[in-house]
Amino acid sequence: ARKKLSKLKKTPAITRDGTVITLLANIELPDDCPHALDCGAEGVGLFRSEFLFMGRSGQAHKIPSEDEQFEQYRKAVVAMKGRPVTIRTLDIGADKPLDQTEHTALNPALGLRAIRYCLAEPQLFLTQLRAILRASAFGKVRLLIPMLSHVFEIDQCLAMVEQAKAQLREAGQKYDAAIDVGAMIEIPAAALSLPMFVKRMNFLSIGTNDLIQYTLAIDRVDYEVAHLYDPLHPAILQLIAMTISAGMKAGIDVAVCGEMAGDVKLTRLLLGMGLREFSMHPAQLLSVKQEILNCDLTTITPQTRKILRTTEPHAIVEAVQQLQVI
Ligand code: PEP
Ligand code: MG
Repeated sequence: ARKKLSKLKKTPAITRDGTVITLLANIELPDDCPHALDCGAEGVGLFRSEFLFMGRSGQAHKIPSEDEQFEQYRKAVVAMKGRPVTIRTLDIGADKPLDQTEHTALNPALGLRAIRYCLAEPQLFLTQLRAILRASAFGKVRLLIPMLSHVFEIDQCLAMVEQAKAQLREAGQKYDAAIDVGAMIEIPAAALSLPMFVKRMNFLSIGTNDLIQYTLAIDRVDYEVAHLYDPLHPAILQLIAMTISAGMKAGIDVAVCGEMAGDVKLTRLLLGMGLREFSMHPAQLLSVKQEILNCDLTTITPQTRKILRTTEPHAIVEAVQQLQVI
């Protein structure tokens, strides 16, 4: 089967009814780009920039400098040869601690993580924004903000992007003035207040890993509650479907970049909800593409609508399995 899959590398991801799907890679470091391309990635949908900030205990500077970050972002942009690269700003805290943090929160997943941490450390955030903006002079870059839930956080982020641009202009440095800025939808409150997001953002990306963690109130790294981690819980399906629909109505792109995007058993369900952009671990790309090539949305879409109206969980599981055989 592996040989056959590798033949799909250059095949466009188009469903049987002719719908074009975008397949993107999740990366941790620029060195992951060649593998992503080798798996047929059409771009990077999630560059988890925190990996540049982690494991630096042996180094003199715990935080990578603007130039150091810029070089890494540019390296990814150049490696992707003109394909878009979505760089997520620092998503530190909880399961990804920054070495220098002294204070340990009692509930790190609910604490000062990701954008909350960045807004509390404006110089650190501005430094990263400038580094990302400078990389945008070398190819298509999209800026993605994690863990947003409040409108003032969105507005502060956008104001700081403008501030970083002004600083670069003053320094005579180039950047893409029209860079797209998007939000991760990974807190239930965000999925339940989509109008304020679509009004301000150029795109959305659903982080199902955290969305499941926060919606079902289960720590995603605690094995004792791992059996409660359920992507098919009706609440999760509703939040994902609502986010995709809100983006479609507003005419902005919506991707899924959590683990659900790379699960071939869920590909049809997500397509049926209207998802047209998937970002996943490169190793999953060709299997998901194979699934897409075998799909006919004219049957899957109405079936998925039925699933979204189904209230009994066991019936949902069965119906999702049924999607595989139509
Ligand atoms: C997610 O939460 O689904 C996601 C893609 O981000 P991370 O796994 O890095 O938190
Ligand atoms: Mg997340």
